[in-house]
Amino acid sequence: MDVEVRLVDNSKGKGLFSKKCFKSGAIIFEEEPLVSCQFSWNAAYQYKACDHCLRPLETAEENARRLTGKPELELPFPECCTTDKSKFTSCTLCGTDYCSVECQTTAYNQYHRILCLQTTERNNFHPLEQLNEAWKHVHYPPETNTIMLIVRLLARIIQSPNRDLAIEQTLQFCHRTVNEDAELAHKLLGEKFANQLSLLHSLLLQCVPHEGIEQFLTPAGFQGLLALIGTNGQGVGTSTISQWVTRTSDLAISDDERAVLDKFIDKLYEDMDSHSGNFLNNEGVALFTLQSACNHSCVPNAEPTYLHNNNKLSLVAVRDIQEGEEICISYLDECNLHRSRHSRRKELMENYLFACNCPKCEEQADEPDVTSEEEEGEEEMSE
Ligand SMILES: [Zn+2]
Ligand SMILES: [Zn+2]
Ligand SMILES: [Zn+2]
Repeated sequence: MDVEVRLVDNSKGKGLFSKKCFKSGAIIFEEEPLVSCQFSWNAAYQYKACDHCLRPLETAEENARRLTGKPELELPFPECCTTDKSKFTSCTLCGTDYCSVECQTTAYNQYHRILCLQTTERNNFHPLEQLNEAWKHVHYPPETNTIMLIVRLLARIIQSPNRDLAIEQTLQFCHRTVNEDAELAHKLLGEKFANQLSLLHSLLLQCVPHEGIEQFLTPAGFQGLLALIGTNGQGVGTSTISQWVTRTSDLAISDDERAVLDKFIDKLYEDMDSHSGNFLNNEGVALFTLQSACNHSCVPNAEPTYLHNNNKLSLVAVRDIQEGEEICISYLDECNLHRSRHSRRKELMENYLFACNCPKCEEQADEPDVTSEEEEGEEEMSE
């Protein structure tokens, strides 16, 4: 391990620190999630991904056809597609699709045994389907989370051969007061849907056996789990098209051929954008033990990426990191990260309950604590 989790100087909290130097662009560590899950609407809209690892289940051409709405579309250089359909498999009982026998077996052994619907018929009567539907109606795209991650997390504890360890792994993510959990749970659902909390809770109770996980199934325990996924859930994105595009850039072809290909790709993205909008990736959410130990900074020195086109996270240095330096990522998305100090800190306080004192926020401490008019306009638009 080239990193360690330890206390941050002058504060009570923990952080992740480097134990060696990293050049910008270097991989600091790679990590598989404790648990992950595709977003509910993403799956409903037929974004085809392995149910376990989120690897795309389409060829680049199929992906391009679906996202452009052009069933006749042909992609040149099919050899640049990384999808290997010969490895695909599905659960014989419920038809859930996986990219490989390894994923199917791992899923079954970790959580799918008790979550298998045992039938290929989807009629929305099963408690799991009811919960998923209820969630979809309180959490519309753009998605940031799914309650199905909680279901998987609980199933994982129940199926674990070492339940105490599984509970401990889960609890390491949440160390908050009951009031803070309630605040975060409401924030995750949004003002409009805060009253749906008890409905989601009662549906969840029907989805998993209760024995041994009682502490998570009380109303407070449930709010704690929502707060946990709200503050620790890390977005995962995979795309077979972007893999294909990356691979075509390595092709040894003439300048003329390159010009034709570049034009084709530009048009492809234009067509996908007009038919499917911004949502091109298979998207989901995951809980990572090590990555979740990273604190936030508005000037991060690392960022999570998915170099393997599945849910395995690679934390990449975005600038040179010295030995002993704290490794920080941004909890804010690209758009929010570039807003004013006031807006960033407001967003972080509401979603993560902390006041950011990163170098950038310190440096801008003299800025007035009001949102500029331009930004207020943006805020209204995003609401
Ligand atoms: Zn897989
Ligand atoms: Zn199954
Ligand atoms: Zn900051």
